[in-house]
Amino acid sequence: MDDFNSETDSDYTSYWRDWFISSRGNEYFCEIDEEYLTDRFNLTGLNTEVQYYQHALDLVTDVFDFDCDDDMREAIEKSARHLYGLVHARYIVTTRGLAKMLEKFKKSDFGKCPRVLCQSQPLLPMGQSDVPNTSPVKLYCARCEDLYNPKSSRHAVIDGAYFGTSFHNILFQVYPAMLPPKSQRRYEPRVFGFKVHAAASLGRWQSDERERMKERLRQARVETGFEEEDEDDEEEELEDEDMEVGDGFEGAMVQQ
Ligand SMILES: [Zn+2]
Repeated sequence: MDDFNSETDSDYTSYWRDWFISSRGNEYFCEIDEEYLTDRFNLTGLNTEVQYYQHALDLVTDVFDFDCDDDMREAIEKSARHLYGLVHARYIVTTRGLAKMLEKFKKSDFGKCPRVLCQSQPLLPMGQSDVPNTSPVKLYCARCEDLYNPKSSRHAVIDGAYFGTSFHNILFQVYPAMLPPKSQRRYEPRVFGFKVHAAASLGRWQSDERERMKERLRQARVETGFEEEDEDDEEEELEDEDMEVGDGFEGAMVQQ
């Protein structure tokens, strides 16, 4: 914003998109083609979503010619950024838009998966909602199929609706070769090289949860006779578990 204001007036009305794309914090956005922006069909419905719609559109398409005070200009500027974001969500699922975002994906412009076993898989931006002002942008890893928060606080405040809920899935449908192999590898907890027995840990967690539930029922004075049955079940489960464990040493490690 500051960079932009320091430009001269004649620069102010030219190359708004160049400025927007190259501003810090806007690295996730690609440049929307002029012809896409000037086709009214692509902007259907946005006039009710964006304040000062016509001025904002003029600014984005570099034909802004409106004398106004700084406050008004600031308001129009804010609307222009919002408009750009909303059009961006539509543009990036077009053939041209997908190709541009693919290039950015290949360059890891959206960052890399922080999960060690994903081996720096590039991420894609996505929204958890297509409705603006619902939730900020998240990053999707196609290898572990999980979502991450952007590392930078500048990116963490971008509206998720500027990317939408479908773009990342459409990209892999159109470019299936870009889909990485699914991550089969899972981290295995070990203590001094010995596997920590997952079934036993789960069993311990389940018994604790069960105890807590019983306590809640007791406090709510719910007496159903459930407890006796429950104890039996628990014993059976523990027996199964012992059989599964097989190796006594692994079982012993878990108890620590
Ligand atoms: Zn991942």
